[in-house]
Amino acid sequence: MTDTERKYVLAIDQGTTSSRTILFNHAGEVVSVGQLEHEQIFPHAGWVEHNPNEIWDNVRQTVGMALGGAEANHHEVAAVGITNQRETTIIWDRATGEPVYNAIVWQDTRSQDLVDRLAADGGPDRFRSTVGETLSTYASITKIMWILENVPGVRERAERGELAFGNPDTWLIWNITGGPEGGVHVTDVTNASRTMLMDLRTLQWREDICEIAGIPTSLLPEIRSSSEVYGYGRQTGLLPGKPIAGDLGDQQAATFGQACFQPGMAKNTYGTGCFMLMNTGTEPVFSDNGLLTTVAYKIGDQPAVYALEGSIAVAGSLVQWLRDNLGMIVKSSDIGELASTVEDNGGVYFVPAFSGLFAPHWDMTARGAIVGLTRYVQKSHIIRATLESICYQTRDVIDAMQKDSGVNLTSLKVDGGAVKNDLLMQMQADILGVEVVRPVVNETTALGAAYAAGLAVGFWKDENEIRANWAVDRKFASLSLPEKREKMYAGWKKAVEKSRGWTE
Ligand code: ADP
Repeated sequence: MTDTERKYVLAIDQGTTSSRTILFNHAGEVVSVGQLEHEQIFPHAGWVEHNPNEIWDNVRQTVGMALGGAEANHHEVAAVGITNQRETTIIWDRATGEPVYNAIVWQDTRSQDLVDRLAADGGPDRFRSTVGETLSTYASITKIMWILENVPGVRERAERGELAFGNPDTWLIWNITGGPEGGVHVTDVTNASRTMLMDLRTLQWREDICEIAGIPTSLLPEIRSSSEVYGYGRQTGLLPGKPIAGDLGDQQAATFGQACFQPGMAKNTYGTGCFMLMNTGTEPVFSDNGLLTTVAYKIGDQPAVYALEGSIAVAGSLVQWLRDNLGMIVKSSDIGELASTVEDNGGVYFVPAFSGLFAPHWDMTARGAIVGLTRYVQKSHIIRATLESICYQTRDVIDAMQKDSGVNLTSLKVDGGAVKNDLLMQMQADILGVEVVRPVVNETTALGAAYAAGLAVGFWKDENEIRANWAVDRKFASLSLPEKREKMYAGWKKAVEKSRGWTE
């Protein structure tokens, strides 16, 4: 069988709460899924860890589940793609494969002191024009530093070249391709762009930043494109001889799976929070409006494509908060129906600045506020204002992206758990004044990794074939009149001002 005759591409999605393996067919449809959750380890307030060995065990099992679910033999798999939680940091021994410490997860804030130390000389933006983001505890850089400085013996072993660093993509590819027996130590440009150690223009590690951080460059994987054959599954594993050929961080994979191949195309993922990425083309655009610059993807030896990224901390979780903390709804799925019992928000705005305002406002003194209350207001108005807040926050980020890039958004592609809510999607189109498009396949993250892998081995010919696969479930045209839309949005901006400065 040649790669183009094989039936499937296998995608591994190593996420924050679970690992999943999905088999996709040539039409880009989900054929089977295997999924297992792993333990969330919280040793202290603000610390979040995962056990890398548990993740590797789970991934192997989910591969078995997905193959079993489709009654597929590995011979029918053309290629393997990986997508992963970004920034999460693992360091292990090259000779034994044993991690020297648990994975430090992207949400973990233990390295704030190290962030402050780096920022003391040159400020939090000292590396931004090179790496695309402001110093924070999210990026891998201070997580690596923390392990080097706090786990006994690790610095010496690192300096002797005995250890390897990677995000979960790198850890999995190394293990799948042989581990201590010849495993390849690689990452892709999108994952590397979240370490704060890679130069966005040259796509190489910055030795000067590594030196400032005290990180031996021998720890670092080789940076490769997002779509090429990195290595082959070990003969004794579940994927013997299979090309491992796609690697993208989760949000970039979703952007790729949504076929956002042209500048100005954007996707928004509506989950616990929202993650929005806009393709800005082959030159990095640096934000004046609090967004970060990242690599969106790089296909083989073609030029890298960049994106602006903005995230919203509280989105779907606000629906959970109404349910669990206020008891205003019984099930998340009830919210659409309750919100449609009223025609509008009745003048109510809900700013969910539970831990400050993020992109593009960046005001950590803000706190949540429900404003515009009158004797007229009913429970359903507040419920409606809850859904609207997700849409207004999205508009804030998109407006910033348009300002930074000078590109006008023509339509927004959406995915994630909350997009099944038709009212939310219609409100989003009305508040943006652009069309919102929901695809048939909501598994865009895994699909993006599958596409990257399939392209590398010729399972899919080119981006056109992927574009053709991308099928619309429903389009939501913007029905609002510009004047009304801007009046509503002005109300939101006023509400945001009211939420500011609540804490010191
Ligand atoms: P994550 O991947 O971040 O865990 P998901 O993509 O699974 O999240 O989306 C789950 C989120 O979507 C939850 O926060 C939930 O409250 C929200 N959600 C689920 N159903 C609806 C709905 N009908 N309307 C609005 N939000 C919803």
